[in-house]
Amino acid sequence: MTVGFALSQNVVFTAYAAAAVCFIVGIRMLSSPRTARRGNWISAAGMAIAVGFTLTLADIDDYLFVAAGLAIGGVLGVPAARLVKMTAMPQMVALLNGLGGGAAALVATAEFFRLAGAEGRAPADTVVAAIFAALLGPLTFSGSLVAWAKLQEVMPGRPIVFRGQQLVNAGIFAGALALAAVAAVQESKLLLSATLLVSFIFGVLLVIPIGGADMPVVIALLNAFSGLGGVTTGFILSNNALIIGGTLVGASGTLLSILMGRAMNRSIANVLFGAFGQLAGGPAVAGPGDGSVRATTAEDVAVMLAYARRVVFVPGYGLAVAQAQHDVRALADMLQDRGVDVRYAIHPVAGRMPGHMNVLLAEANVPYDQLYEMDQINPEFAQTDVAVIVGANDVVNPAARNQQGSPIYGMPILDVDRSANVVVIKRSMSPGFAGIDNPLFYDPKTSMLFADAKAAVEGLIAAVKAV
Ligand code: NDP
Repeated sequence: MTVGFALSQNVVFTAYAAAAVCFIVGIRMLSSPRTARRGNWISAAGMAIAVGFTLTLADIDDYLFVAAGLAIGGVLGVPAARLVKMTAMPQMVALLNGLGGGAAALVATAEFFRLAGAEGRAPADTVVAAIFAALLGPLTFSGSLVAWAKLQEVMPGRPIVFRGQQLVNAGIFAGALALAAVAAVQESKLLLSATLLVSFIFGVLLVIPIGGADMPVVIALLNAFSGLGGVTTGFILSNNALIIGGTLVGASGTLLSILMGRAMNRSIANVLFGAFGQLAGGPAVAGPGDGSVRATTAEDVAVMLAYARRVVFVPGYGLAVAQAQHDVRALADMLQDRGVDVRYAIHPVAGRMPGHMNVLLAEANVPYDQLYEMDQINPEFAQTDVAVIVGANDVVNPAARNQQGSPIYGMPILDVDRSANVVVIKRSMSPGFAGIDNPLFYDPKTSMLFADAKAAVEGLIAAVKAV
């Protein structure tokens, strides 16, 4: 089905510039919970402009395919986006990254097959871009699927390692590069197909050794890869909107990888070569040994809180699961009314996605001046009477500071154990995402309030009222 309503290129390019402005303004607004929602809408409007004007381009000659793609994408994407739980967001992002990589691989293959072997030589810039996409796309696709499977617990979340893994990975990567180079020079469809396959295998091997608490870094990295995939397809199709959009995703994904890497104390080199998620030597799981834990009651904790000078709440993944943010806010307000100095400590990788805790606490209208980032709050714990951990575990695990063999050794944590008292709200002694024990629970100044976070905080509200 061909429709001939091509607008002039200048009109389309101007629309692309407007879309780019929307993307940039939107991303800027995402940096604060106050403006994030509006930023998302503005970015989405930019995407609608970019897609809408692209559809007027003269080189689109079959709208039926486009309509079918939009329909399938819409039917799958809209309910998925509406129904996904906030705690399953990383899996969703992993899938979306993978689709971006897969799309880049498909566009690259289609263009390469169209141009290679045709009369005369194919344009060098298109071939180079296609080769780059053939290298990047499949590995983003397969790596993201493995990340999704790990996060969804379809496959084991722990690192899967074997002897000589780094060497095998390096060899396969070098093989993919060599194949890609020869495919480009010879314009060989067969070698391009081989490159796609080897890149796909490399993606799987790149992500399987990564596990536990290190997944956020790899997801951010795959996000950057999917952006670069978008850039390459932009060059292949000579589409400025794709080049700009892909660059923004690539750049923000790269920055996010660096920031998450810093938060996890992993260098990007470690991330790239799959050396993380493995033990730095020493025992597999650093257990607490002989310690015992002290269980407490809402009434006892309420007395401690009501007479404290400073209380710091530390939210984690369990707060998100229990949706206890509104109750925590209500408890914090009650304490403040009694003259207690209340703060919230935010760890950069608490929960299951960057900014997860900020989003939840913003939802409960927690005042921004009570939110403290890790570096701001850590020196304050020594002057804190009670640190209340609400469903957090790995981000307060002192093993990261002092157990060299621990898989999270070196990750900066919230130093809650420097407070006078620690209350941990969780349902059992189960470990967190990293799958390791937490010596904090056996610390003599720690009391465990075993319950669902929402029920526990509701209990604390009732008990504080009675004090
Ligand atoms: P953790 O995953 O370490 O621990 C969460 C704890 O919450 C569990 O120990 C669990 O214990 C408890 N919990 C679960 N449900 C409830 C409930 N309903 N009520 C009360 N407690 C509950 O969480 P953290 O936030 O401390 O750390 C985040 C981890 O996730 C880090 O390892 C991080 O690297 C990783 N990660 C972070 C991402 C990010 O971008 N933020 C992305 C992917 C992974 P119990 O079952 O006993 O209740």
